[in-house]
Amino acid sequence: MPWGHTKIAMETAEFQVLTGEPVPLPNSAGLHARPAARFAATAKTYQCTIELVRGVDHVNAKSVVGIMGFGTQMGDPLQVRARGVDAVEAVTVLTDLLRKGCGEESGPSPVALQEYPAQVVCATHFGATVPSFQGVCAAPGQAVGVVVQFRRAGIEVSEVGGSPSLERLQLHAALDQARGQIETLQSAAGSAVQAKILEAHLELLQDPGLIDGALHGIAIGKSAAWAWQAACTASAQHLESLSGSSNATLRERGNDVRDVGRRVLMLLTGAVPTSFELPDNAIVVAQELTPSDTGAFDRSKLLGFCTISGGATSHVAILARSFGIPAVCSMDPRALQIRNGTRVMLDGDQARLLSEPTDAEVSLVEQQLSRKALVHAQQLATAQSLAMTKDGYTIEVAVNVRNAQDAQEGIANGADGVGLLRSEFLFDNRDSEPLEEEQAKAYAAVADALGPQRCLVVRTLDVGGDKPLRYLPLPPEENPFLGMRGVRVGLEYPNLLRTQLRAILRTAGRARLHIMFPMVATLEEFRAARNILQEEQDRLGIAPVQVGLMIEIPSAAVMSSQFAKEADFFSIGTNDLTQYTLAMDRGHPKLAGKTDGLHPAVLKMIALTCEGAKTHGKWVGVCGSLASDLLAVPVLMGLGVTELSASVPVIPAIKTLVRRVSLQECQQLAFEVLEMGTAAQVRERLTAFSKTIEE
Ligand code: PEP
Ligand code: MG
Repeated sequence: MPWGHTKIAMETAEFQVLTGEPVPLPNSAGLHARPAARFAATAKTYQCTIELVRGVDHVNAKSVVGIMGFGTQMGDPLQVRARGVDAVEAVTVLTDLLRKGCGEESGPSPVALQEYPAQVVCATHFGATVPSFQGVCAAPGQAVGVVVQFRRAGIEVSEVGGSPSLERLQLHAALDQARGQIETLQSAAGSAVQAKILEAHLELLQDPGLIDGALHGIAIGKSAAWAWQAACTASAQHLESLSGSSNATLRERGNDVRDVGRRVLMLLTGAVPTSFELPDNAIVVAQELTPSDTGAFDRSKLLGFCTISGGATSHVAILARSFGIPAVCSMDPRALQIRNGTRVMLDGDQARLLSEPTDAEVSLVEQQLSRKALVHAQQLATAQSLAMTKDGYTIEVAVNVRNAQDAQEGIANGADGVGLLRSEFLFDNRDSEPLEEEQAKAYAAVADALGPQRCLVVRTLDVGGDKPLRYLPLPPEENPFLGMRGVRVGLEYPNLLRTQLRAILRTAGRARLHIMFPMVATLEEFRAARNILQEEQDRLGIAPVQVGLMIEIPSAAVMSSQFAKEADFFSIGTNDLTQYTLAMDRGHPKLAGKTDGLHPAVLKMIALTCEGAKTHGKWVGVCGSLASDLLAVPVLMGLGVTELSASVPVIPAIKTLVRRVSLQECQQLAFEVLEMGTAAQVRERLTAFSKTIEE
């Protein structure tokens, strides 16, 4: 337990009112549904009463609705106040949870998505005047399809209830049933994002704010349905009243409460869900869409979403991105008047919906889409063969994965193996460390997706100050990117590393196993980690496996020849190598345009790595995102990289590209760009080169 992190003030010993130190809220969108749910769920594990405090304001920390309605914003100084038997632990744990963003993953900031003012314009496209509705970009891409106006049927609710005890029973039964429904939806969720949203909904079902409100209504003679509806409406309206603030995510909070509220209300009233059969190529237009609505649509018939409410941070936007379909939110309300079945063109990039586009417009978009689809199909058709250059050199094209499902997808898309298994997925979002058995099963599932002939590179746990784990008491750091990260954490907590290594080693033979350590800066770190691996290998009596390291820190790149004497392979993590070479935070929104892996300084680091490896006959792969950048592929090959581990969708295109070039011309290209002064010059040269190999 990280007792050391939190200073606790005890106001009166008698009542044990404890207050944690103020924490500036790190969440860019405040405590919206998911982090609020996580915070409330943790608070509920304690018996004491707990409040979340901001200055003189406070809310019940066990109420998701209360926390969401608190209208928190990034930077708000929040404190945890508790009274009761386990108050000390509650304050400590919850203060740490706040500090760590309540488990919210860092990801591209929603503000990075371009926002467009909502307006209707009559624009002229290709000489024709067509109604064009403007909104806010929520998910990229284009689609041509037919409008399906989505409306929910109203639910009749009678105000007067039977005996309060009966109404209470009905309420609890409906809440239980709703829980079962959401759990079923969660297990069938089409994406991790959707599953997380549903997890927040499960929390809302137990929210003391909503339940107490409903019970109060029942106590004064209202029906359970009426009382529940009133409690949900009041909470949702309160949350929506906060949406005038600059934080767009606030609008979503009311949407969550309404969604859960409606589900329970239908169960209480016996209302039948509106069955909603989508036609083929549907573009759904709605005032708003809740996660339950979007989850119920037939994905095979759905081409896009368009909603009047919501913005770039809405659930619709997040889900559409995870489904890979375009979406536009904050759309002009007049889009609701487009007749069902009308042909429309949805352009997520331009945040626009064109009603009845001209044939010329449709055919232009359709041509682009079918050209993309055709090229992809052609590339996919040859993706299962090896990628060999025109002059006969083979490049291994592997896939970066988090679990067995990703590995299967990668193989189906032509991956020759797994070049990076990010093992963090087993360790995140939980309260205790995964046991060896659980880990072994998960690694075996990935290995079995590959089979004994394919290569599996497992990276040991890569966490630290920037990617904290709840159960790992890492003290807060001034500079987490330069602190306890990657292999340093494994060496600090050797039992954690040993358990993981044993679990990984148990998969030996099911695939061609390689183990690598992340964020290695010094030979001593590599040796210490490798010795631990050796000891566990000896204990299990397993034959030696290939052992490598990630090249992510300039010191390792510069000393690659020394490392290559002792390691079997290198895999370059260009995401971190770029940030450490250029001293630019990889997640900094203002530096996003400059943190470029094609900067000549980063390319020089890659060149040094390859030279050092070559001296000792070791191979070098790239598993950072530069390997998924088609512009970068020829230059990486020219520098001496022989394995590229990329994201699933780009694998067929990489294989096609490799077959169109010769290693010799790639080497010439690499030689040229290494001499350039800026990343822009490198990109310009590589763009020109890519044109020469287009078909
Ligand atoms: C990298 O740094 O390039 C890398 C692959 O590791 P991660 O992105 O997981 O830090
Ligand atoms: Mg990294």
